[in-house]
Amino acid sequence: MPAADQETYERHSYDVVVIGAGGAGLRAAIAAHESGARTALICKSLLGKAHTVMAEGGIAAAMANLWPEDNWQVHFRDTMRGGKLLNHWRMAELHAKEAPDRVYELEQWGALFDRTPDGKISQRDFGGHRYARLAHVGDRTGLEMIRTLQQRAVSLGIDVFMELTVTELLKDGGKVSGAFGYWRESGRFVVFEAPAIVLATGGIGKSWRVTSNSWEYTGDGHALALRAGATLLNMEFVQFHPTGMVWPPAVRGLLVTESVRGDGGALLNSEGKRFMFDYIPEFFKAETADSPEEADRWYTDKRNRRPPDLLPRDEVARAINNEVKSGRGSPHGGVFLDIASRRSPEFIKKRLPSMYQQFMELAGVDITKEPMEIAPTCHYVMGGVEVDPDSQMSVVPGLFAAGEVAGGMHGANRLGGNSLSDLLVFGKRAGEHAAEYGAALAGGRPKVSTASAHDAAEIALAPFAHDQGHDNPYSVHQELQAVMQDLVGIIRTEHELRLALDRLVELRAKAAAVAVEGNRQYNPGWHLALDLRNMLVVSESVARAALERQESRGGHTRDDFPMSDPYWATQNVVVELKEGTVSVRRQPLPQPPAELAKLLEEEAH
Ligand SMILES: Cc1cc2nc3c(=O)[nH]c(=O)nc-3n(C[C@H](O)[C@H](O)[C@H](O)COP(=O)(O)OP(=O)(O)OC[C@H]3O[C@@H](n4cnc5c(N)ncnc54)[C@H](O)[C@@H]3O)c2cc1C
Repeated sequence: MPAADQETYERHSYDVVVIGAGGAGLRAAIAAHESGARTALICKSLLGKAHTVMAEGGIAAAMANLWPEDNWQVHFRDTMRGGKLLNHWRMAELHAKEAPDRVYELEQWGALFDRTPDGKISQRDFGGHRYARLAHVGDRTGLEMIRTLQQRAVSLGIDVFMELTVTELLKDGGKVSGAFGYWRESGRFVVFEAPAIVLATGGIGKSWRVTSNSWEYTGDGHALALRAGATLLNMEFVQFHPTGMVWPPAVRGLLVTESVRGDGGALLNSEGKRFMFDYIPEFFKAETADSPEEADRWYTDKRNRRPPDLLPRDEVARAINNEVKSGRGSPHGGVFLDIASRRSPEFIKKRLPSMYQQFMELAGVDITKEPMEIAPTCHYVMGGVEVDPDSQMSVVPGLFAAGEVAGGMHGANRLGGNSLSDLLVFGKRAGEHAAEYGAALAGGRPKVSTASAHDAAEIALAPFAHDQGHDNPYSVHQELQAVMQDLVGIIRTEHELRLALDRLVELRAKAAAVAVEGNRQYNPGWHLALDLRNMLVVSESVARAALERQESRGGHTRDDFPMSDPYWATQNVVVELKEGTVSVRRQPLPQPPAELAKLLEEEAH
């Protein structure tokens, strides 16, 4: 194989390069193209296979199709309260205001949503949303969203680079100048020259053992941003979705959509008790039903108080965790989710076709006849690249981020359905602003130096040069997953976080020396070795931020600081790389203007 400095790289030049072809990346690429930018879209899997395709429940948007009382103000309030008021208020405002237009636009582009009897887009219930608000297509909404966006992107003629992994962002004088990556099939290197890059690489779940996330979620965008000098916000907030499959072992962690509870499913412990009534936090008492009879009335009239099974995800995940720890769990270490005794088989098969199929085929469980066994699973990261709320540009000129890789929008905890709407709203904004930024540079485009490309190539080739006696990437990955699962999971303590950080130092050394066999042509071991570098820096960011935040809030629970602390309600934890070392600092959270603050106060109980 040629040495890094002897290889001739494939080169491309664009105005905007979008890394990631999920909902955020596709929407950003469409927006950049429609703004006149020569745009490329890169993804490390096949086009259409992004994580977005797995989204089941729906897209949250206050369209008021079922409940005329719904509007952007209520959606804004729900999002902020769900995020425990740690959201960037401006992002929550833009999101709530613009989500309905983005859904209608998707419909105009060909998405076939489920309908209400009077022909409007149907909207379903999800945890933390005051009204039924999720526009959906059965339980396959992500698939329809990706199909529609992909069709539009392809019909517009946007250049797509599939199965190409970006390993480094390139800079010139402090500004973004391009990206460096490799074709997964041939292992050949590629250089993209572009003054504006949009990161849309999704989440970080593959660092945990039990996760709903697929192989692509290795935190590449978070790590690329850090190494390029950008800052990450609130990485301690990782969402453990309350309902993942627990049995059989091969499917542990696979998501069981919240729609099951939205459509009437109830959580039961081994004693058959609806235990969520024992876990209603003070903050939500006024609007949460306190008896099963009252809870059930809510399914027919949303003016009643919501069932506690549909409290925000962090509350439900902690309650399940506690039931299991207290010996009231199911045979395989979860609890039960019962829809069989609450809805007819016809209803279940119509509303939840994928869930019916998933349990039947993977676990041999007929959910129209018996309850499901479920437990929390690592699902989503609220933390991400710090961006300007309106433009989505990071602190690095020319570097934008949208979707799950961006931080701020969801605060300490994301409400279900708010991700798909986030992708559309901020994907569009990122694409438009990236195009505008690139155009404004005119003749002054930053350049990609040969040296910076060679440096990136050398880093990528390093695992081939290591002694075969060293660890292989698979064993290091397994060790990393054990550390994050056991020491940086749902419930954290200072002692365990410090242990995790010590272990991560060891793992970083092991990962830096991992050896891979074979050559560059489709070599999964090599790919994982490169992904590991990203997973490790991102995992350390999570652990350090979790140690810094000495309180419990949303997706971050400290056993040694079990209460939320008003001081921390005003602070973001910012992560950055200083001379290659992960460092954290606190930064005041921007406060909403009076009219929005009033909205929150008026409605808060
Ligand atoms: C099972 C499941 C169900 C869900 N259901 C819902 C729901 O009902 N409603 C909701 O709002 N949210 C839901 N979510 C969350 C939501 O689906 C995700 O947060 C969202 O799809 C993320 O979209 P994205 O565009 O940011 O990233 P993704 O859709 O994950 O796309 C990431 C893209 O980046 C590419 N990529 C990554 N790294 C690189 C690299 N180094 N080089 C090149 N390309 C790269 C990938 O190939 C991919 O194309 C669900 C998530 C899961 C896992």
